Amino acid sequence: MANGKVYLVGAGPGDPGLLTIKGQLCLTQADVVIYDYLANPLLLGYAPEHAEKIYVGKVRGNHHLPQEQTNALLAEKAAEGKQVVRLKGGDPYIFGRGGEEAAYLKERNIPFEVVPGVTAGFAAAAYAGIPLTHRDITTSLALMTGHERPERKLSSLDWEKLATGLGTLIFYMGMTNLRMISEQLIEHGRSPKTPVAVVQWATLPRQRTLVGTLETIADDVVREGIEPPAVIIVGEVVGYRENLRWYDNLPLFGKRFLITRPRAQATEFIYKLQQQGAETICIPTIEIAPPDDLQPLDDAISNISDFDSLILTSANGVEAFFARLAENKKDVRCLAGIQLIAVGPKTAETIEKHGLRPDLVPERYQAEGLVEELLAEGVEGKRFLYPRAKVVRPVLSEGLKSAGAEVVAPVAYQNVRPTGKEEMIRHLLSESELDAVCFTSSSTFENLLKMFGDELKELKGRAEFFSIGSITTETIRKNGFEVALQPEKFTIDDLVAAMVEYYQK
Ligand code: SAH
Repeated sequence: MANGKVYLVGAGPGDPGLLTIKGQLCLTQADVVIYDYLANPLLLGYAPEHAEKIYVGKVRGNHHLPQEQTNALLAEKAAEGKQVVRLKGGDPYIFGRGGEEAAYLKERNIPFEVVPGVTAGFAAAAYAGIPLTHRDITTSLALMTGHERPERKLSSLDWEKLATGLGTLIFYMGMTNLRMISEQLIEHGRSPKTPVAVVQWATLPRQRTLVGTLETIADDVVREGIEPPAVIIVGEVVGYRENLRWYDNLPLFGKRFLITRPRAQATEFIYKLQQQGAETICIPTIEIAPPDDLQPLDDAISNISDFDSLILTSANGVEAFFARLAENKKDVRCLAGIQLIAVGPKTAETIEKHGLRPDLVPERYQAEGLVEELLAEGVEGKRFLYPRAKVVRPVLSEGLKSAGAEVVAPVAYQNVRPTGKEEMIRHLLSESELDAVCFTSSSTFENLLKMFGDELKELKGRAEFFSIGSITTETIRKNGFEVALQPEKFTIDDLVAAMVEYYQK
């Protein structure tokens, strides 16, 4: 049996971009991932599909899997010869019981490695605009747990050292004891006016940062309703935030958007929104599935050399077509001499990923634009292959046919409506937890409407609808809903730019 090994990997504080490259590599090689409450579940996406994912964090106030059981689980999976990733929030060796887990493995001769992570305190400081050390103010830094085991309460001597001996202090797990912590620090010699920052959900779009002083912070936190997980940063450096804050100044910071396109196509959109500080929730209202009948597409592929042009109008269409080409034991060489037409830059880009360069990308990213350009070139007697989605507008086929072209348009994929997502979406919409729903195609909207029917009307006014382009907008309006925003050009970049502008107004 292959040798199993355990990797104690720091997941970082929350922002998925703060995972280390080595941590990511471990995940991509994992057979088992054992993860915590504070490790961002999005990171599980790096693990192979077949990898077993085991959650050992707490569920709504319930307790974690007891540490002893987690230890045993690590050992057991490694003994089976598996590559085990123990994914822990922040850094595994900072208040993460990583030391206990490593010692348990060591005792049983199970090999392990530790991959450090960006610890929450450091990340919170960076994202709140607080340099933890600054040569004008402080040259030292201490990390503290604010949640001591009862039998190990800090003596007053320790408090004195803390209060006067050290510069910046970061408390983890300190929210329930915040009042006690600030009182003790004041009592043992820190100025009551010392600035304090509490940073909740650091590095995530729901980050909240509250600044007060040792004297006020316990009351401030209650008033503002700030709860764990949060780190508490004590020291004069907190004063720099006013000048150095950046994260919560991003244009879409604090905004929450529902993305309804399939996750595989949503990644870039999500990433771009997050770069602007937004929180994104992806619940696809469409899924891409193969057509019910593959024969028409297969027939067209086996007679591919009969065609003059190949029209692809979406990234999904491109992927579906090339997948089918491979299934039919053909490759791109069979497209030699055929004019390649891509509608939209995204489609063109996807084609290029397959090593081909489209001959024509119409100026306007819609069927109408393409028909216009092709007719100008002349299409009479030409044979077009147009692998398409199951449901499409007839514009393209009819426009070409009526000008004397022959169009073969086999279904290459279909959009299906996923089931079982209603509850999640209803919750998001009804609690007014969303600023807007983003629609990137008519079917993303139509499916949402099918899922909710008239109920969607009741949700009017709670969240705005954003649309990527005029066809989608028309579909939404036709059904009696308003569209708050539509970019001039129908690309993700333009949509994101329009969203930024919308909220800056
Ligand atoms: N090993 C982790 C710490 C685990 S202890 C690390 O290195 O970050 C759990 C505590 O970490 C929480 O009570 C909170 O104080 C802090 N914490 C973890 N993630 C956080 C986040 N995103 N924002 C603020 N505090 C966080």
